[in-house]
Amino acid sequence: MGILEARRRPPLVASLEMKFCSACGAPVALRQPPGDNHLRYVCTACATVHYQNPLLVIGAIPEWHDGRILLCRRAIEPRHGLWTLPGGFMENGETTTEAAARETLEEANARVAIGDLYTVYNLPDINQVHLTFRAQLLDLDFFPGAESSEVVLFEERDIPWDELAFRPILYTLQHYFADRAAGEFPLRTGDILKSQKQAVAPTLI
Ligand SMILES: [Zn+2]
Repeated sequence: MGILEARRRPPLVASLEMKFCSACGAPVALRQPPGDNHLRYVCTACATVHYQNPLLVIGAIPEWHDGRILLCRRAIEPRHGLWTLPGGFMENGETTTEAAARETLEEANARVAIGDLYTVYNLPDINQVHLTFRAQLLDLDFFPGAESSEVVLFEERDIPWDELAFRPILYTLQHYFADRAAGEFPLRTGDILKSQKQAVAPTLI
């Protein structure tokens, strides 16, 4: 999105409802601070501005030597029972590659060597940015973590395309198998919008 298009958007409302100031406990109100173009929760007593910014969701594409890809069946909401690549919210104090390895360990008890960044998807409607890394699975001693009911290595032809939990996962896997067949993995980026129910991966670069 260009600068002009971005400016046409109305002031964005903070996404998470807040009632009280975390600094002093007084009520907060939605206001547009001077010089700001967004509505923010501002404390009515101490004037602290509570900024809210997008969250990073980090994932991995663990591949075994024979080309199979590790997927997890979700044991939690949302999308309980559907399949996903290991991934989740980045924590404070860690790097993006540490987050990818940690999520893979937590959800699949799988050890990976994290490789190149592969997909970057903007999800502005839900204030998230999803990053997914290629990864080499280091052994076969994986088993489901607390958030997974099954962890399975899938060959490309067996990927449960109709039972994938999230659109970034679908698009990442679509690109992955096409790029692997072509022999190179360029960085893939795009915007995933609620208003556009793309059946295939958004605009490629
Ligand atoms: Zn306050």
